[in-house]
Amino acid sequence: MSASSSAAPFLPFTRPTIDDETIAGVCEVLRSGWITSGPQVKAFEAKLSEYFGGRPVRAFNSGTCTMEIALRIAGIGPGDEVITTPLSWVSTSNVILEVGARPVFVDIDPVTRNIDLDRIEAAITPATRAIMPVDLSGLPVDRDRLYAIAGKHKLRVIEDAAQSFGSSWKGRRIGSFGDFVSFSFHANKNVTTIEGGCLVLNDEREVKLAEQYRLQGVMRSGFDGMEVEVVGGKFNLTDVAARVGLGQLPQVDVFTIQRRELARAYFEAFEKAGAKKLGLRLPVPDFAQSNWHMFQVILPEVRLKVKRAEIMAQLHAAGIGTGVHYPAIHLFALYRRLGWKDGDFPHAEQAGRNILTLPLFPTMTRDDVARVVDALVAVIQKNGKA
Ligand SMILES: *Cc1c(COP(=O)(O)O)cnc(C)c1O
Repeated sequence: MSASSSAAPFLPFTRPTIDDETIAGVCEVLRSGWITSGPQVKAFEAKLSEYFGGRPVRAFNSGTCTMEIALRIAGIGPGDEVITTPLSWVSTSNVILEVGARPVFVDIDPVTRNIDLDRIEAAITPATRAIMPVDLSGLPVDRDRLYAIAGKHKLRVIEDAAQSFGSSWKGRRIGSFGDFVSFSFHANKNVTTIEGGCLVLNDEREVKLAEQYRLQGVMRSGFDGMEVEVVGGKFNLTDVAARVGLGQLPQVDVFTIQRRELARAYFEAFEKAGAKKLGLRLPVPDFAQSNWHMFQVILPEVRLKVKRAEIMAQLHAAGIGTGVHYPAIHLFALYRRLGWKDGDFPHAEQAGRNILTLPLFPTMTRDDVARVVDALVAVIQKNGKA
């Protein structure tokens, strides 16, 4: 028998779970005569608000515009600085540039891979207006310390919680407390609307502004009243997308439990395989608070003859999909042009070169996990320096 006919099917690094009830619901919306923003978006926002303990929430068509809008609501623009992490999806710092402000990167803690809270205060200047931390892979940044720093220096916080829907901090859901909290519902996130996002806000004034920035600044009243006071964008979510989200919300807790179980299986399998001896660095084993959006390892760069791309290629040939989340932002050409360079944030750079996202999604099995670990260990051994 040839290798290809006996091989297990290709295992992607992630895969959305959309149930039949959701698919039927989407068909109903498509037949309803109203497919863009309407009653489904309103219903989705109401459910989200309930999920976040009654805080006001508005839905949008991405988890990027949500952060941009939070910055605009906070009045952050030219001349202002926003402290953030260099290890994130590039949208986190792109939105800071988008509003005309300057990102100020603070290196990561190599263990949590999140912004190093010990280094934030040294980066604060009179121009600092906000902190934008990221819960990478769903592992929450220490909210007690974060808000203590923000409070002491009177800074706004825009939590980029794109990856931490379903995570918690000391028993409280991420999003149910704090300042602005931004979530993404991109297809790869734990809860999806295909594309989309939501922003948790503080009060009615912020809600009103969020609605204006969401759609061309338009405010409606009565049957024909329309006024525009600010420059808004085109950031509204469709009812079709919102219906997907409504089908996802009741499953969040189950998704999180399934992901945690698989993460545990990874730790057990890596332990058995002697991953530490190979120099492989595993994530923080947080089974209480993280939603395990991803399972990311850091490859042992100094012990390997090849770079990450080659490891990924060999895993791909073995039927295993992997991802990179993410290269260090400050080393992209755009950011180098703005003055950042190699060596500025060594921990983020090391992680950016060597971090590898392994398959993890709710419908995966423990056998799949074992297969991934076996394959990765074999590939690392095969490519190790003599
Ligand atoms: C996904 C993601 C975003 C952006 O979300 P989109 O919905 O794709 O715009 C922002 N930050 C982080 C950390 C993300 O993972």
